[in-house]
Amino acid sequence: ILNKCVLEFTSVPENVAFARVSVAAFASQLDCTLPELEEIKVAVSEAVGNAIIHGYRNKADKTVRVLATIYKEGLEIRVEDSGIGITNIEMAMQPAYSTDPERMGLGFVFMQSFSDRLQVDSTPGKGTTVTMYK
Ligand code: ATP
Ligand code: MG
Repeated sequence: ILNKCVLEFTSVPENVAFARVSVAAFASQLDCTLPELEEIKVAVSEAVGNAIIHGYRNKADKTVRVLATIYKEGLEIRVEDSGIGITNIEMAMQPAYSTDPERMGLGFVFMQSFSDRLQVDSTPGKGTTVTMYK
Protein backbone atom coordinates (compact mmCIF):
# COMPACT_ATOMS: atom_id res chain seq x y z
CA ILE A 1 0.00 0.00 0.00
CA LEU A 2 1.37 3.38 -0.94
CA ASN A 3 -1.51 5.55 0.21
CA LYS A 4 -5.08 5.15 1.37
CA CYS A 5 -8.04 7.24 2.40
CA VAL A 6 -11.34 6.47 4.07
CA LEU A 7 -14.45 8.60 3.70
CA GLU A 8 -17.48 8.09 5.89
CA PHE A 9 -20.56 10.18 5.30
CA THR A 10 -24.32 10.39 5.73
CA SER A 11 -26.59 8.87 3.10
CA VAL A 12 -27.89 12.12 1.66
CA PRO A 13 -27.83 12.69 -2.13
CA GLU A 14 -25.58 15.77 -1.75
CA ASN A 15 -22.79 13.45 -0.67
CA VAL A 16 -22.68 11.74 -4.06
CA ALA A 17 -20.91 14.85 -5.37
CA PHE A 18 -18.76 15.05 -2.22
CA ALA A 19 -17.57 11.46 -2.69
CA ARG A 20 -17.02 11.94 -6.41
CA VAL A 21 -14.77 14.99 -6.10
CA SER A 22 -12.99 13.69 -3.00
CA VAL A 23 -12.01 10.38 -4.58
CA ALA A 24 -11.03 12.15 -7.80
CA ALA A 25 -8.82 14.54 -5.81
CA PHE A 26 -7.21 11.61 -4.01
CA ALA A 27 -6.71 9.67 -7.25
CA SER A 28 -5.24 12.67 -9.06
CA GLN A 29 -1.89 12.02 -7.36
CA LEU A 30 -1.65 9.05 -9.71
CA ASP A 31 -0.66 10.35 -13.08
CA CYS A 32 -3.98 9.55 -14.67
CA THR A 33 -5.42 11.36 -17.64
CA LEU A 34 -8.40 13.68 -17.45
CA PRO A 35 -10.68 11.14 -19.15
CA GLU A 36 -9.54 8.56 -16.58
CA LEU A 37 -10.41 10.95 -13.76
CA GLU A 38 -13.83 11.47 -15.33
CA GLU A 39 -14.33 7.71 -15.37
CA ILE A 40 -13.41 7.51 -11.69
CA LYS A 41 -15.95 10.21 -10.91
CA VAL A 42 -18.70 8.43 -12.80
CA ALA A 43 -17.92 5.06 -11.20
CA VAL A 44 -17.86 6.53 -7.68
CA SER A 45 -21.11 8.44 -8.30
CA GLU A 46 -22.86 5.32 -9.51
CA ALA A 47 -21.71 3.18 -6.59
CA VAL A 48 -22.46 5.80 -3.93
CA GLY A 49 -25.78 6.65 -5.59
CA ASN A 50 -26.73 2.97 -5.50
CA ALA A 51 -25.82 2.70 -1.82
CA ILE A 52 -28.10 5.63 -0.98
CA ILE A 53 -30.96 4.99 -3.39
CA HIS A 54 -31.14 1.20 -3.32
CA GLY A 55 -29.15 0.08 -0.28
CA TYR A 56 -30.76 2.59 2.06
CA ARG A 57 -33.93 3.23 0.04
CA ASN A 58 -33.19 6.96 0.29
CA LYS A 59 -33.19 6.95 4.07
CA ALA A 60 -31.04 9.91 5.01
CA ASP A 61 -29.79 8.79 8.44
CA LYS A 62 -27.46 5.99 7.33
CA THR A 63 -23.74 5.81 6.70
CA VAL A 64 -21.81 5.15 3.50
CA ARG A 65 -18.11 4.34 3.55
CA VAL A 66 -15.72 4.79 0.67
CA LEU A 67 -12.17 3.45 0.83
CA ALA A 68 -9.64 4.36 -1.80
CA THR A 69 -6.26 2.66 -1.86
CA ILE A 70 -3.33 3.37 -4.11
CA TYR A 71 -1.09 0.37 -4.67
CA LYS A 72 2.03 0.14 -6.78
CA GLU A 73 -0.12 -1.83 -9.23
CA GLY A 74 -3.03 0.59 -9.32
CA LEU A 75 -6.09 1.93 -7.57
CA GLU A 76 -8.79 0.20 -5.55
CA ILE A 77 -12.07 1.93 -4.73
CA ARG A 78 -14.48 0.28 -2.33
CA VAL A 79 -17.99 1.54 -1.55
CA GLU A 80 -19.80 0.01 1.43
CA ASP A 81 -23.34 0.26 2.72
CA SER A 82 -25.13 -1.70 5.40
CA GLY A 83 -28.48 -1.52 3.67
CA ILE A 84 -30.93 -4.03 2.22
CA GLY A 85 -28.39 -5.96 0.18
CA ILE A 86 -28.81 -7.63 -3.20
CA THR A 87 -30.48 -11.04 -3.51
CA ASN A 88 -29.33 -11.84 -7.04
CA ILE A 89 -26.04 -10.08 -7.76
CA GLU A 90 -25.65 -11.57 -11.23
CA MET A 91 -29.07 -10.33 -12.28
CA ALA A 92 -28.53 -6.91 -10.70
CA MET A 93 -25.36 -6.47 -12.76
CA GLN A 94 -27.06 -7.18 -16.08
CA PRO A 95 -27.12 -4.13 -18.37
CA ALA A 96 -30.49 -2.36 -18.27
CA TYR A 97 -31.64 -4.34 -15.23
CA SER A 98 -33.20 -2.22 -12.51
CA THR A 99 -35.62 -2.87 -9.69
CA ASP A 100 -36.90 0.66 -10.28
CA PRO A 101 -38.87 1.08 -13.52
CA GLU A 102 -37.92 4.77 -13.62
CA ARG A 103 -34.20 3.94 -13.80
CA MET A 104 -31.95 2.93 -16.67
CA GLY A 105 -30.13 0.09 -14.94
CA LEU A 106 -26.77 1.30 -16.22
CA GLY A 107 -24.89 1.97 -12.99
CA PHE A 108 -23.04 -1.34 -12.98
CA VAL A 109 -22.30 -0.94 -16.70
CA PHE A 110 -20.43 2.31 -15.96
CA MET A 111 -18.64 0.76 -12.98
CA GLN A 112 -17.67 -2.22 -15.14
CA SER A 113 -16.35 -0.08 -17.96
CA PHE A 114 -14.17 1.88 -15.54
CA SER A 115 -12.79 -1.15 -13.73
CA ASP A 116 -10.30 -3.77 -14.74
CA ARG A 117 -12.09 -5.87 -12.15
CA LEU A 118 -15.39 -5.22 -10.40
CA GLN A 119 -16.37 -7.25 -7.38
CA VAL A 120 -19.77 -7.08 -5.71
CA ASP A 121 -20.28 -8.71 -2.32
CA SER A 122 -23.70 -8.50 -0.79
CA THR A 123 -25.77 -10.13 1.92
CA PRO A 124 -29.52 -9.51 1.93
CA GLY A 125 -30.43 -7.56 5.03
CA LYS A 126 -26.77 -6.85 5.83
CA GLY A 127 -25.43 -4.68 3.06
CA THR A 128 -23.33 -4.39 -0.05
CA THR A 129 -19.69 -3.80 -0.86
CA VAL A 130 -18.64 -2.82 -4.37
CA THR A 131 -14.92 -3.02 -5.09
CA MET A 132 -13.41 -1.60 -8.26
CA TYR A 133 -9.83 -2.24 -9.27
CA LYS A 134 -8.05 -0.16 -11.86
P1 ATP B 1 -29.19 3.63 -12.81
O1 ATP B 1 -27.88 3.32 -12.09
O2 ATP B 1 -29.04 3.57 -14.31
O3 ATP B 1 -29.86 4.84 -12.29
P2 ATP B 1 -30.01 1.33 -11.32
O4 ATP B 1 -29.40 1.96 -10.13
O5 ATP B 1 -31.29 0.60 -11.11
O6 ATP B 1 -30.21 2.42 -12.47
P3 ATP B 1 -27.62 -0.25 -11.45
O7 ATP B 1 -26.86 0.82 -10.79
O8 ATP B 1 -26.96 -1.00 -12.55
O9 ATP B 1 -28.99 0.31 -12.02
O10 ATP B 1 -28.10 -1.30 -10.33
C1 ATP B 1 -28.94 -2.40 -10.72
C2 ATP B 1 -29.81 -2.86 -9.57
O11 ATP B 1 -28.99 -3.44 -8.55
C3 ATP B 1 -30.59 -1.78 -8.88
O12 ATP B 1 -31.82 -1.50 -9.54
C4 ATP B 1 -30.80 -2.36 -7.48
O13 ATP B 1 -31.90 -3.25 -7.47
C5 ATP B 1 -29.56 -3.19 -7.28
N1 ATP B 1 -28.53 -2.50 -6.45
C6 ATP B 1 -27.42 -1.85 -6.90
N2 ATP B 1 -26.67 -1.39 -5.89
C7 ATP B 1 -27.32 -1.74 -4.75
C8 ATP B 1 -27.04 -1.55 -3.35
N3 ATP B 1 -25.97 -0.88 -2.93
N4 ATP B 1 -27.93 -2.08 -2.46
C9 ATP B 1 -29.02 -2.75 -2.88
N5 ATP B 1 -29.34 -2.96 -4.17
C10 ATP B 1 -28.50 -2.46 -5.11
MG1 MG C 1 -27.52 2.77 -10.15
